[in-house]
Amino acid sequence: SERTLVLVKPDGVERGLIGEIVSRIEAKGYAIERLELLKARNDQLAAHYAEHEGKPFYPPLIDFMCSGPLVAIIASGEGVIAGFRSLAGATDPTAAAPGTIRGDLARDWGTKVQKNLVHGSDSPESAAREIAIWFPES
Ligand code: ATP
Repeated sequence: SERTLVLVKPDGVERGLIGEIVSRIEAKGYAIERLELLKARNDQLAAHYAEHEGKPFYPPLIDFMCSGPLVAIIASGEGVIAGFRSLAGATDPTAAAPGTIRGDLARDWGTKVQKNLVHGSDSPESAAREIAIWFPES
């Protein structure tokens, strides 16, 4: 079935929210196919965020994503790409609706980068590209 790439960003790991976030994915009925705690390499982050290179938030975003371990997850299920984006909520934690991961749990205001706990692929093409970055053997 459909697959998506989820990252629990360093703020989520540091705050002890891995279980809470994985729980929400599982509770929605998606399967966890792969899950790994790892320290992101620069080349992985450069590939992952290639579309944002040159934007003002790009340098602090890369620094933040390197600041501690993250959790890379392949989740699967019908409609999981859009479904996880719904679970995650809006990119900006202030705008994210209550009931979403970011709306309920993200609370890092006023920094140069939005520490918004999670990433989820936004299309089948992104999912395939990102899965190859974080799980090159799969
Ligand atoms: P993600 O790709 O992480 O799921 P997204 O698709 O909602 O988030 P993107 O627009 O792809 O958001 O931005 C990638 C990440 O860069 C965001 O999750 C956030 O951490 C950071 N970011 C995006 N826009 C801004 C901004 N205007 N100011 C600060 N940080 C930003």
